[in-house]
Amino acid sequence: MEKLHVMFFPFPGQGHLIPMGDMARVFSERGVRVTIATTPLNVAMVKGRGSTQEIEIVTVKFPCAEVGLPEGCENTESIPSADLVLSFFKATALLQAPLEELLLQHRPHCLIASAFFPWASDAAVKLKIPRFVFHGIGVFALCASECLRLYQPHKNVSSESEPFVIPHLPGEIHMTRMMLPDYHKAEGETEFTKALQAIKESEVASSGVIVNSFYELEQVYAYYYNEKVIQGKKAWYVGPLCLSNEKGKRGKQDGVDEGDILKWLDSKKPNSVVYVCFGSIANFRESQLGEIARGLEGSGQQFIWVVRRSDKGWLSDGFEARMEGRGVIIWGWAPQLLILNHQAVRAFVTHCGWNSTLEAVSAGVPMLTWPVSAEQFYNEKLVTEILQIGVPVGVRKWARIVGDNVTGDALHKALHRVMLGEEADAMRNRAYKLAQMATTAVQRDGSSYCHLSHLIQHLTSIASLQT
Ligand code: UDP
Repeated sequence: MEKLHVMFFPFPGQGHLIPMGDMARVFSERGVRVTIATTPLNVAMVKGRGSTQEIEIVTVKFPCAEVGLPEGCENTESIPSADLVLSFFKATALLQAPLEELLLQHRPHCLIASAFFPWASDAAVKLKIPRFVFHGIGVFALCASECLRLYQPHKNVSSESEPFVIPHLPGEIHMTRMMLPDYHKAEGETEFTKALQAIKESEVASSGVIVNSFYELEQVYAYYYNEKVIQGKKAWYVGPLCLSNEKGKRGKQDGVDEGDILKWLDSKKPNSVVYVCFGSIANFRESQLGEIARGLEGSGQQFIWVVRRSDKGWLSDGFEARMEGRGVIIWGWAPQLLILNHQAVRAFVTHCGWNSTLEAVSAGVPMLTWPVSAEQFYNEKLVTEILQIGVPVGVRKWARIVGDNVTGDALHKALHRVMLGEEADAMRNRAYKLAQMATTAVQRDGSSYCHLSHLIQHLTSIASLQT
């Protein structure tokens, strides 16, 4: 039989491109022929800088003009405003025909496509190949979101801030309406609720589900997910995929020289620096950035802070000069894995994107949780209440892109909680243990290693039936 050939089709956002690029490299290392399909401006993102793995990358044009997006808006990161999010999703739906052409041309044995592409199953069916769903989020969030969708507990509270328990979900998880994504709260059918429904149906109809997590991290929820959500369909837990990558060599070109940032970190004592980064999409108003600066300065802690903009007008006079030696701002993109894995880093202020969360878990770094959007409020619950390796900064309200207001004082106080004292030490110890478990999971005979072996065996046996 010819070599097993798998095509990967990631959703065009860093949260999918980066882990699917990592996964493609792991498949390739295991002797699988791999093709990644993406749009021209996302090629660099999936490639993995410095990677020597042989991976074919093919492209489809992203239909910006057709849906009214500015030319070049091919990645969630470049969506100019929250009201264009829906247009972006509409553009991705137009990728079905080009994907079918690519499948015909390259004839892979199977397709692994992001969950956000429910129609990818129809494309695969036309070619008579199986489609597997890749989830860019963890299984706790998948279960929480499904329980909310099914049981709608937020309809039984009288205000936005009245807490309720997520029904049927193991563990007593409290949420408020304010923390829920707007598509969960919409009355009647909307574009988003239809999309969610389609994603759900395509998951159940797919040949299986691949999750970037490791079984031991979310065991109870992995069980619940298999039994109740995907109704016995097979799920493979193959993460943390970040552990398969050479530290730092991923995503975009960094806004800082790696050597310089390493030198700076090397000059600091172990466990003495806080790393602050809110992923690739979340954004803040200038006033909020000013509060973050105030909180960092007031806390007295050493820090690396990643700011996703180039103008400095909002910075208080002399901030950078006052912070000289104590804090560094990285403008643009940071080598996150490199930083998180440095012994000087004690805590991570994060928006709780799933990749960032898993990267912190893998590095054994406790978190200060500052969720903004998507499923990030569920991830906050996982980190602070279930795994107990983080404290919340106190964000109350879900937003589409621009985060809620948190004062500098709240940040200052929460930083002390996560960096200093007994509670912080206990979190740090738990985080270390989880990091060890994550490393074991991806090593030979670890749970993720075995899940991946079984998955590849399964795909190989399906491919042999096709020939
Ligand atoms: N990332 C990075 N440098 C940055 C910002 C983000 O390397 O300056 C990476 C981060 O390590 C993670 C991904 O981008 O792998 C962001 O994914 P996540 O799911 O955390 O958040 P999203 O960007 O999807 O909101």
